[in-house]
Amino acid sequence: MFYLFAFLIGLAIGSFLNVLIVRIPKNENIVFPASHCPVCNHTLKPWHNIPLLSWLLLKGKCAFCKTPISKMYPMVELITAAIFLFISFKEGISVNWFIISLIFSLLFALSIIDFKYFAVPDSLNFTALALALLLPLFNFAEDYLTQDLKNFTYYQSELITNFKDAAIMALSLFLLGLVVKKIIKKDALGEADIIIAATMGSLLGFPSVLIAIYTAALLAIIPALFARNHMVPFVPFLALGTLIVYFFNDTLLKWWNLLYA
Ligand SMILES: [Zn+2]
Repeated sequence: MFYLFAFLIGLAIGSFLNVLIVRIPKNENIVFPASHCPVCNHTLKPWHNIPLLSWLLLKGKCAFCKTPISKMYPMVELITAAIFLFISFKEGISVNWFIISLIFSLLFALSIIDFKYFAVPDSLNFTALALALLLPLFNFAEDYLTQDLKNFTYYQSELITNFKDAAIMALSLFLLGLVVKKIIKKDALGEADIIIAATMGSLLGFPSVLIAIYTAALLAIIPALFARNHMVPFVPFLALGTLIVYFFNDTLLKWWNLLYA
């Protein structure tokens, strides 16, 4: 039942991500107007808005003009549901589960937007960073409500560590960007990559975040070799590196310790 709940919440959040992905790059309001068909402009009925199910029942076509609906919508909903489901295996149904799933959902939305537009909106990027930085405060609220409060200094030191790790990563990537720019005389790392690195630092901590950055760079090399102008959107690879390290942290840390012990 817990897992079904996690999956359904993920579908609902995925449905909202679709709205963000379509509207934010066009500077449209994310609440108004209500969902409508981009071709015939008909406002959708509530039962046309059920994640995944509506798309299946309508056989992927608009109910009014029968124009095919992009497969992107059900795919985004399904992948977001999978994110919420798999993270619930690791975290149980908890505040950690919800906030970490939200962070990965935002990274996923940023990845798709970067892939389509080669630029990502600061609003979503900073939301992910804020969630990652403030996770100890959410933990504090949860522990307070479940009367399982730890020593206050625990939350304090978690919070300080998050800000410190985020700052170190942001500064390192900023400096790295300057060095690379000197060498190849082109902007290599954008402001968006720096913000995401800070989110990664806060979420994963050291040295895991370094493994995630390496993983992202390794994954990005092959498509970069084949891409036009050797340009690939880097955000999807940063997100993927973060996800891999989040799930396989223990194994990867063992290898890391073998290498550096
Ligand atoms: Zn239509």
